[in-house]
Amino acid sequence: MSMRGPSEGLAIPYKTYLAEDEVPRQWYNVRADMSQDHAPILNPGTLKPMTVAELEPVFCTELAKQELNTTDRYLDIPQEVRDFYKMYRPSPLIRAYYLERALETPARIYYKYEGNNTSGSHKLNSAIAQAYYAKEQGLTGLTTETGAGQWGTAMSMACCYFDLALKVYMVKVSYDQKPYRKTVMQTYGAEVIASPSDTTQVGRKMRAEFPDSNGSLGTAISEAVEAAVTSEGTRYVLGSVLNQVLLHQSVIGLEAKAAMDKLGVYPDILIGCAGGGSNLGGLMSAFMEDRLAKRRAPRFIAVEPASCPSLTRGRFAYDFCDTGQVTPLAKMYTLGNGFMPSPNHAGGLRYHGMSPIISQLYHDGHIDEARAVEQGSVFEAAELFARCEGTLPAPESAHAIRVAIDEALACKASGEEKTILFGLTGNGYFDLLAYQQYNEGSMSDFIPTDADLARGFATIPAFEGLQ
Ligand SMILES: *Cc1c(COP(=O)(O)O)cnc(C)c1O
Repeated sequence: MSMRGPSEGLAIPYKTYLAEDEVPRQWYNVRADMSQDHAPILNPGTLKPMTVAELEPVFCTELAKQELNTTDRYLDIPQEVRDFYKMYRPSPLIRAYYLERALETPARIYYKYEGNNTSGSHKLNSAIAQAYYAKEQGLTGLTTETGAGQWGTAMSMACCYFDLALKVYMVKVSYDQKPYRKTVMQTYGAEVIASPSDTTQVGRKMRAEFPDSNGSLGTAISEAVEAAVTSEGTRYVLGSVLNQVLLHQSVIGLEAKAAMDKLGVYPDILIGCAGGGSNLGGLMSAFMEDRLAKRRAPRFIAVEPASCPSLTRGRFAYDFCDTGQVTPLAKMYTLGNGFMPSPNHAGGLRYHGMSPIISQLYHDGHIDEARAVEQGSVFEAAELFARCEGTLPAPESAHAIRVAIDEALACKASGEEKTILFGLTGNGYFDLLAYQQYNEGSMSDFIPTDADLARGFATIPAFEGLQ
């Protein structure tokens, strides 16, 4: 396939930026508009809905309030957070003109690019908000986990900005495979610990039981929560799944919609990769507002790896958010808190569960489709995109690219001129090991069998009358 097309030139705007003062002043809380709220998160001890008072020992108070907020449709973005956003927002909305040309598709493809900051992904949008509320509360430190490393990097930047100490439990396989991520975090002053570690009870137990463990996000979460509740002036922060994170990430969709309004276009299809669901929740926010108000809406597609298929093959059930079973119970699509994802799947989409908001919207048909894609075809899409559009995508983002390409090719076959919007959540500069494996032909796809999934499902707690 030639990357060069007819030379009539680029007659349409390639990048659309909002002006700096057009960056949203408020986040959108989709939960206030959902006809069916997600089932409440429960205290596993009492099986009663968690209260702010119960969340406070773990989370910053203001974030605990955001987590449980079902009424305020819009929340003000604090001025200090907007000041920080200025360093890298607004992010561009880009017409994938060169990709369209290579595909010879009549579809118009747009992407919202969130990789233009040192953390390399959208995660900074929530990291800076969470650090801000911790500082406001007078806390001195935060703990968190990181899988592929983007969240830990984003949190280290945010904590550095607000002068907070940060401990990052990094899933061991990434710790070993992504030494440069570690270096960036340390450069911003964070302490980085390979998980499972011997610094927590949960970690020591894991290491005793599974000495060869590569770690998992679920275990790293348990460790970070334990470290937070056992240290003075310290709370825990999470980079996805939670309602507060989707709230902060709504800035992506609000900006995307404002930019598309400027161009006078509206997406027919909106595509986002889904790990814990935060970028998808963020990108679709302003458009989901349209759907829930029964105006218009794109077809929403969530894309997940075939190796960790929580939406397409998981159960919609109450489960722990972590492997150590120390977190509240959330009703979500889950593969079971004990599900051990394949270490050979690149990137950060390996969480066993899915955001309760995304889960509920999917369950109710407001998210139209979930699609699982295999790693080989994801990297094929990543390579084509990199060659056409000049940006090396993060492997996570490439899941969305895969489906955007497939939809554009379907348009080519049918002759339909659909408008496609997808989230390019990050760049792939720290994922070169995966690209190297793809280039060498040594990359493998791992798709769990039904028996593999059954082992995970067996770890979903069975509380009487709950499921
Ligand atoms: C973390 C991450 C994701 C997946 O997380 P979500 O919460 O599902 O958005 C996707 N892309 C990149 C680049 C990431 O860093």
